[in-house]
Amino acid sequence: MLKNIPKVDKVLEWPEVRSFLEEYPRPVVITAVRDTLDLLRAALLRGEATAESLEEKAVAGRIRGALTRTTTPGLRRVINGTGVILHTNLGRAPISASLRDSMLDAAFGYSTLEFDLETGARGSRAAHVEKLLCSLTGAEAAVVVNNNAAAVLLALSALARGKEVVVSRGELVEIGGSFRIPEVMEQSGAILREVGATNRTHVRDYRSAVRDETALLLKVHTSNFAVVGFTSEVSTGELVTIGRETSVPVMVDAGSGTLVNLSAYGLPGETTVQEYLAAGADLVTFSGDKLLGGPQAGILVGKRSCLEPMKKHPLLRALRVDKVTLAALEGTLRLYRDERQALEQIPSLRMLTVSGEELASRAKAAARRMRRALPATISLKTLPGFSQVGGGTFPLLEIPTSLISVSVAGLSAQQLEQKLRTSPLPVIGRISQGEFLLDPRTLSDREIPEIIAALQAIAA
Ligand SMILES: *Cc1c(COP(=O)(O)O)cnc(C)c1O
Repeated sequence: MLKNIPKVDKVLEWPEVRSFLEEYPRPVVITAVRDTLDLLRAALLRGEATAESLEEKAVAGRIRGALTRTTTPGLRRVINGTGVILHTNLGRAPISASLRDSMLDAAFGYSTLEFDLETGARGSRAAHVEKLLCSLTGAEAAVVVNNNAAAVLLALSALARGKEVVVSRGELVEIGGSFRIPEVMEQSGAILREVGATNRTHVRDYRSAVRDETALLLKVHTSNFAVVGFTSEVSTGELVTIGRETSVPVMVDAGSGTLVNLSAYGLPGETTVQEYLAAGADLVTFSGDKLLGGPQAGILVGKRSCLEPMKKHPLLRALRVDKVTLAALEGTLRLYRDERQALEQIPSLRMLTVSGEELASRAKAAARRMRRALPATISLKTLPGFSQVGGGTFPLLEIPTSLISVSVAGLSAQQLEQKLRTSPLPVIGRISQGEFLLDPRTLSDREIPEIIAALQAIAA
């Protein structure tokens, strides 16, 4: 059978394969043919291929499959039916659709990225965003970098290299993807001075740790975990008091960082960036694509004296953001000038604050629409459940929602999950207690027909 594997040149003359050459560049087709024949040879050697699999029609079909795979982008759109709003694996915050034009303009044309229209001379790439950040948060100055991990690295490198940074043992966090405070500290050249215990740190712990070598008092938001029980932590205000007494600046890594007080919308009270600054923090860092709901970015706001050394630091050039990110961030921040507008137009904030009644009616409407369009072998029902925020934000919070349960006759929930996940437009849901579930919190109305199409293909 190995001898019956056709030669590459022969395969390229098959009419069906010749037709591929009209759609794809020749080198791409040749690679697909070679790869397909190699896979067939390997399958034969493992005893897993049949004589039929060597026939022209079968081989050409495999080559078409290989070509389709090579031309499907690796990074593509999926439908998030998990209900996890800031799903880190699915790209965290979706950006407001109202910013589409400004992002496209920045990407596909020339822009004022580093050009001052007034003087005709070189301008600052961060000036537009810096002004907005200062007016929204009350900060004296701001810097934007690639993500919050970069923001923390830059701050520690610029302010504390070779000096000590005091941190509570209860705040030595690891964020997914190997961001760990002790390791970032080491990378920056700052020396970690741990104080207190995992569950309790007191004002006296910080006070007795401060000495000539101390460059910063650092407070880190324990984003993705909670310490409960016999606990005590030192507030930003108390840290500021110690900082003022000892002339050591106070930095807060706020993690998610919000500009809106979410307790007004039934969510846990989370200190806003403005509140950290008002409490006297000299520097606050936070992410662009967590609660803020913008592009991936790291934002530093605070006192001019803290930010000036960062603006001159060589790392800034290595960590800077590109023009499309700046367009998205500027647009997102503009929306925050009116809180109501931010809540309406920033997708993650809207998903976070949508009412239970609206979710229930959207779940019912979607299930009705799906039932009308789908064969009777697919059953649908709605049931109460919970959504999560994700992105290491509010780890313990479960927000009530209404779920759509989907089942297909003859398929287990696992099989259905796998088939939807590998659809041409992947639909990602979750399984709970043997049921496949979609959460309308993270779905938009325009995605319902797309889910219907995916289910129709599976049912067929
Ligand atoms: C998420 C997070 C980071 C990392 O932020 P990225 O924007 O993902 O780089 C750092 N510190 C804290 C406390 C966080 O929650």
